[in-house]
Order: sequence, then structure tokens, then C-alpha cells
Amino acid sequence: MRLESTPELEAFRRKVRAFVAEHAPGVKAHSGVRAPVPALMPAIREWTAKLYEAGLLGIDWPAEYGGRPDAHPLEASVVAEEIARARTWAPVGAASLASAALVAFGTEEQRARFLPRIRTCEDVWCQLFSEPEAGSDLAALRTRAVREGEEFVVDGQKVWTTNGQHADMGYLLARTDGDAPKHRGITAFALDMRSPGVVVRPLRELTGTTDFNEVFLDGVRIPAANVIGRVNDGWRVAMSSLGRERSGVAARGVELFAVLEDLVRLAEETPVGGRPALDDSATRQTIGELAARVQVNAALIGLAQSRMLHGTEEPADALLGKIFFSELNHDLADFGLRLQGTDGLLTEDDPEAVAEGWWQDAHLYSRAYTIAGGANEVLRTQVAERGLGLPRESRHQG
Ligand SMILES: Cc1cc2nc3c(=O)[nH]c(=O)nc-3n(C[C@H](O)[C@H](O)[C@H](O)COP(=O)(O)OP(=O)(O)OC[C@H]3O[C@@H](n4cnc5c(N)ncnc54)[C@H](O)[C@@H]3O)c2cc1C
Repeated sequence: MRLESTPELEAFRRKVRAFVAEHAPGVKAHSGVRAPVPALMPAIREWTAKLYEAGLLGIDWPAEYGGRPDAHPLEASVVAEEIARARTWAPVGAASLASAALVAFGTEEQRARFLPRIRTCEDVWCQLFSEPEAGSDLAALRTRAVREGEEFVVDGQKVWTTNGQHADMGYLLARTDGDAPKHRGITAFALDMRSPGVVVRPLRELTGTTDFNEVFLDGVRIPAANVIGRVNDGWRVAMSSLGRERSGVAARGVELFAVLEDLVRLAEETPVGGRPALDDSATRQTIGELAARVQVNAALIGLAQSRMLHGTEEPADALLGKIFFSELNHDLADFGLRLQGTDGLLTEDDPEAVAEGWWQDAHLYSRAYTIAGGANEVLRTQVAERGLGLPRESRHQG
């Protein structure tokens, strides 16, 4: 049951489902927020542009840029859910984050320059926030931007830049005042990734795929006109755009229902002692527990959406949803591997691997979700402090 559905929203869902079935660029080979191989990028750009053209992305943008401000607030979530249900590509990159920043803080000139190119997907954006010494403690970032006339000169290093290898533009945070308290000396920029001095170096991950990158910035010149919001106010810009980007969360519920179905099928098809694993009562019990948690995950998302619509959000809603989803996602993939017995040790490339090694990859990648968007350990502290009002943990200065 959907807590907040209406006949209009369900009609919209049917329309989106048909659109996805007709235009989407095929099923993704891997789970998670992954970077496509370069050969897939033209099809993904085309698909993304079609989604904007049909009014299915950028829904909350101003009308003059193609937004539909009177749309139901959950339409963006429905689109994300239907993309997840089809197990196809969501738009790659950080355009939704960057556009949220541009809509809320950008100048009219910036919106006119950047939003149409996001709509046509001529510009894929990446998120240049994290650094080797600034992840959980993002405000510790050290990449410096120094003003020289009508430009800023940027030096530093970013890391974990998802889709940096495909990006045309970067949504960058850099320190513009080294003397101010650390949250107050940061500025947000729109960076042309083809600027001289930008070097993108792909990182190869545990999964064997290349989803994120290191980005080195060496004397990179950014026009002052590319500052998003005010100089030294970048922390507010970044936190506000992170808070506005919610539609992706909706897809997580759909994703896990699909994985659960695959798990049941796997248990039906995997023989243990000459019988399907699903006949074994311990297997059934574990799948039953996981199924219950998949329902709880969906209920948590529904609850958070409902509170958001009624303006009654609790500080811990998004935090708890993210922790619960990421741990359940790991446990589903883990059981998928365990069901395979010793075959679970085969690597993804092995022709004997079940489902072409999908479970192996999903298991390895599942760790990423427990870190991305805030490490679960850090989020638990936030739940304690913001959600439960427990005393603040002492912060040691490193
Ligand atoms: C799949 C993926 C995609 C990403 N994409 C991007 C991107 O496109 N752009 C971008 O800018 N960043 C991106 N990130 C980076 C992400 O935001 C950081 O990984 C995250 O903020 C954690 O920072 P860190 O990796 O430096 O870990 P650290 O901050 O070094 O933390 C390491 C571990 O230490 C523990 N820890 C740290 N601080 C505390 C604390 N206060 N209390 C308790 N435990 C603590 C936690 O267990 C944590 O897992 C991505 C990360 C992942 C995994």
C-alpha cells in the first residue's frame, strides 16, 4: 500500500511506466549507483534528454526552464521508482544536486546558462565535495580557491568523484577563507571539467569496475561568475541542495523488492542435497525475515514521504531510512551468495557463475551504500543526537 497515492498519481505512474518501457536504454548489468562504460554514454545522454523533454525530470524547476511547479510533490519519486522497477539507468552524475543549488542560489544568468544544457544532457555534472582528508568531516576540506581579479585560482584534490570520467561540469566546494571557522570559509562553484589543470584519474574498485575517480586541480581558473550563491556561503548551498535531493530514496524500496524476488527464484533453482534450497526450513526462515525487512524498508520510505508532504518531518527520518536500507541491501546480497554454497566463491567473470556473477558484484558493492551519503556509524551518532536528543558526542580536533 502507498501511504500517499492518489488516482492522479497512479495514472501518472502508468504513463511513466509506459514511457520507460518504450525509451529506456536496457537493463543495467550491475546494482547500485554505477558509472557506465564509455560506449553506453551516448545512449544514456539521449535517454536523460528524453526524460527532461517529457517533463519527467527537473519537475521542481521554475516553469521557464521546463519545470512543472504545480505537479504533485511525489511525481519525481514515482519517476525514480519506475526507473528502478525497470532496472534500467537512472540519469548519471550529479545534475540533480547541481540544479537544486542553481535553482535555489544561482543567478538568473547561471540558470539560463546551465539548466538548458542539463535538460539536453549536453552537460553531465559530477560532485566535487569529498577529499582524502575530508569525507565524513566534509567541512575540513582543504582545496583552496584564491581570488585573482575576475577569476578564482583553485588548487587541491578531490576523491570518490562518481562519474567524474564522464563529466562536463563539476559542482565544486573549495575553501576561500582559511581564517574563518571551517563551515564559513567554503564557496560553491560550477567548474568546467575541461579547464586546463583538471586531471581526472579513474579508481578501480573492489568490484573491478571504475565508478569513481580522483580529481586533481592544479592552478585551475574559474570565472567569478561561476560562484554559486555568495562567496564563503558554500556550506549552506551544499547542505540545502543535499537536503532537496530526495527522489532517489524512493527507488530504494522498489530495488529491494526486485532483489527479494530474485532471491526467492535463486532459492527455488539452487539444489541443496538434491532438493531446491527453498524446501529447507532454515532457508525459508531467513528469506521470511528478509522479506519482512523489505516491507519495513518500504514503510519507512512511505512514512518519510508522508511526513515530508505534511511538513512534519522528523530529523531522524532520512538518516534511519538510509541506515536501514544499506544494511538490508547488504544482507540480501550476502544471503544470495551463501545460497550458492561454494559457487558463491566464483568471480563475476567466471562463465559458471550464477546469474553472470550479479550476486558477487552486488555483495561487494553493497558496502558502498553503507558509506556513501554519510557513513552509517556517523549517521547513528546523528540519530542519537538529532533524533533522540541524547547528549552530543565530544568532538576531538585531529
Ligand atoms: C559509492 C560512493 C560514491 C561516492 N560519490 C561521491 C561523489 O560523487 N562525490 C563526492 O564528493 N563524494 C562521493 N563519495 C564520498 C562519500 O561522501 C564519502 O565516502 C563519505 O562522506 C565518507 O567519507 P570517507 O570515505 O572519507 O570516510 P571517513 O570520513 O574517512 O570515514 C571512514 C570511517 O571512519 C568512521 N568514522 C569517521 N568519522 C566518524 C565519526 N565521527 N563517528 C564514528 N565513526 C566515524 C566511519 O566508520 C567511516 O566509515 C562517494 C562514496 C561512495 C562510497
